[in-house]
Amino acid sequence: MLYLGCHLSSAGGFAAMGKTALRLNANTFQFFLRNPRGGAAKDIRADDVREFIALAEKNGFGKILAHAPYTLNPCSKDASIREFARNVFADDLKRMENIPGNLYNFHPGSHVGQGTAVAISQIVEILDEVMPGAAHTTVLLETMSGKGSEVGSTFAELAEIISRAKINAPEKLGICLDTCHVFSAGYDIVNNLDGVLAEFDRTIGLNRLHAVHLNDSMTEFASHKDRHERLGHGTIGKEALIRFINHPALKGIPVNLETPNELPGYAEEIAILRQSYTQD
Ligand code: FE
Ligand code: FE
Ligand code: ZN
Repeated sequence: MLYLGCHLSSAGGFAAMGKTALRLNANTFQFFLRNPRGGAAKDIRADDVREFIALAEKNGFGKILAHAPYTLNPCSKDASIREFARNVFADDLKRMENIPGNLYNFHPGSHVGQGTAVAISQIVEILDEVMPGAAHTTVLLETMSGKGSEVGSTFAELAEIISRAKINAPEKLGICLDTCHVFSAGYDIVNNLDGVLAEFDRTIGLNRLHAVHLNDSMTEFASHKDRHERLGHGTIGKEALIRFINHPALKGIPVNLETPNELPGYAEEIAILRQSYTQD
């Protein structure tokens, strides 16, 4: 089963996102629990959640993916920014308990000059504080492109963070792989997809891969930039992205588009991918 969707606005609540997903022929989606800049979260209404869960069950949805605010930086040099990250992270995980059994994705952050070693310790420290609150949620670190001083652009860094966290069973702590980011980080998913996934398996473990962001890239291989492109309009290309979703290692893992599109553009990309999906 291909669980495929895209990033949706959460302004109308969960049931509204579910209905929008159905219109796009999606059976999963990604959303923000709060303003992506990190502002106040919207209240979660029990009736809205009930309506969404019924819709998701009836239509065979896969897990849905909440994305942490972009401003959440667990490895900032500035202690008050780390404190903000911890509070938002903890509060988001508490909210996720209203929609149990789903996924929460965050960017490991940017070390802004402190170096990777210090940053990794700070990320692990925050994970140790917030993970006990993730009783029914799988927390995911996103693979990053390595722009600026981003942490998490290598599988080794992500594996180190995971292995040092106290609560780190594969069903509790895992990875969201962003195709644009890994390609920009220097993992050649165009010419060596098997090799990249084998390296992922050796370093992190494919049992930790719980979600995919499917994006083409505006920039060249190993550019360490983060510029998403519509499918087939970038340096990765449509064929490679179709090969990616059809890879046996990806079976059953929710795939979400974060391409620069409005809803009709997402619907078109979803249609193309569904037509090109050859697994059962
Ligand atoms: Fe992201
Ligand atoms: Fe992403
Ligand atoms: Zn990105």
